[in-house]
Amino acid sequence: MRYVSTRGAAPAVGFTEAVLAGLAPDGGLYIPDAWPTLAPNAIAAFAGRPYAEVAADLIGRFTGGEIPDADMAEMCAEAYATFSHPAVVPLTQIAPGAFIAELFHGPSLAFKDVAMQLLARLYDHILGRQKRRQTILCATSGDTGGAAVEAFRGRANVRVVALFPEGRISEVQRRFMTAADEKNVACVAVAGTFDDCQAIVKDAFQDNVLRQAVDLSGVNSINFARIAAQIVYYFTSAVALGAPHRSVAFCVPSGNFGDAFAGYAASRMGLPVTRIVAATNSNDILARAFQDGRYARGGVAATQSPAMDIQSASNFERLYFECVRRDGVETARAFTAFAEMGAIEIPPQALATMRELFTGVAVSEAQTARTMTATLNETGQMIDPHTAVGVAALQMVGDLGAPVIAFSTAHAAKFPEAVQAATGQTPALPGSVAALAKKPERFDRLPADAAAIKAYVRAFAES
Ligand SMILES: *Cc1c(COP(=O)(O)O)cnc(C)c1O
Repeated sequence: MRYVSTRGAAPAVGFTEAVLAGLAPDGGLYIPDAWPTLAPNAIAAFAGRPYAEVAADLIGRFTGGEIPDADMAEMCAEAYATFSHPAVVPLTQIAPGAFIAELFHGPSLAFKDVAMQLLARLYDHILGRQKRRQTILCATSGDTGGAAVEAFRGRANVRVVALFPEGRISEVQRRFMTAADEKNVACVAVAGTFDDCQAIVKDAFQDNVLRQAVDLSGVNSINFARIAAQIVYYFTSAVALGAPHRSVAFCVPSGNFGDAFAGYAASRMGLPVTRIVAATNSNDILARAFQDGRYARGGVAATQSPAMDIQSASNFERLYFECVRRDGVETARAFTAFAEMGAIEIPPQALATMRELFTGVAVSEAQTARTMTATLNETGQMIDPHTAVGVAALQMVGDLGAPVIAFSTAHAAKFPEAVQAATGQTPALPGSVAALAKKPERFDRLPADAAAIKAYVRAFAES
């Protein structure tokens, strides 16, 4: 298996190279040259197997033989042993035909752990073999940074710089990053939005001098290994509800579209998925794109679900590439225009293809709060505001002709202010992380300026 760039102007590479590079050198995103497919009996055979084994099987199909199967099995076993629930991603029922898949049982209490715990082990494995050291630069809307710091802190071959938008993430989210005292971790509060942070990361990746000087790598959801790891829980949760004999639908709280795109991949791989609802908060670029066919940036508003305060959904480029029949020249044209003008029209045929699988729904702040309260009253379950966006969207779209699985992407205790404001109750932090509140914080502050941040990254990597 080889990985091609969505912009068609970079050479195809193998799995390990695609993982270490993050973004392709032509500014595109790597995507497999063909999707592996599973026959129904292979999917049915996942029933009852431990999560880590299903993960090793599915992710192993993307490595093109570059990682020995036994090593992949060991890395998956270790990665998912860090989760506090033996099922790793358990399902609970919230209404007839409606379920929640709890993706938040990892060390930083958000779904980013599912991919990041594996990614850190993959990096260690690959870099160790290559006797190489890399610098990971990551922009975070709140949860990626914490998951990356949790997964990579103290690892010998990697330094991590996490950029977060100052004042736009929750205190608990911030503490998951800033409490780390390992020397290979640096956190930077950027005076700007998440989109600013993400643009600076893209700028850094296109700076070949910096890229080589610090051996730059990225673990944002532009990294295909994250997508591969996120495909797994689509399979395990669907199989738990009777797939492949029965179809299922998913409702995915979306920001950068990495999680929802993994669902597209699962569907291409043979999982019977009737529909994927991409649920956004009032930062609704994705919802509008599927509704109107115009992918157009708006201003970023701060909401109760900050991990989704995004108006430039990186992974949408992967779906676009697929839906323009893998035309790299057209994808490059469109996303260069988007970067310059902030808006593109989706070609009608591509939009029709997207709509065969995706529905976009935007959820208001009031609906999000009401859904937290209603879910608590009706089921006794306290859900976080991101999950509430998904559950609200599930209720808004109505019958999808199949059981619906809404992803619960964060533990309620990661957003105590929002949960308390909506429900009047304060979720307790699990014991394992309650100590965070007392740890000293360590971070630097910088303006939203690419040159300043690149100089900082270089100095840190060379220190
Ligand atoms: C990152 C994140 C999302 C959005 O996921 P994308 O892959 O960026 O669409 C949703 N909820 C939470 C809690 C997150 O951390």
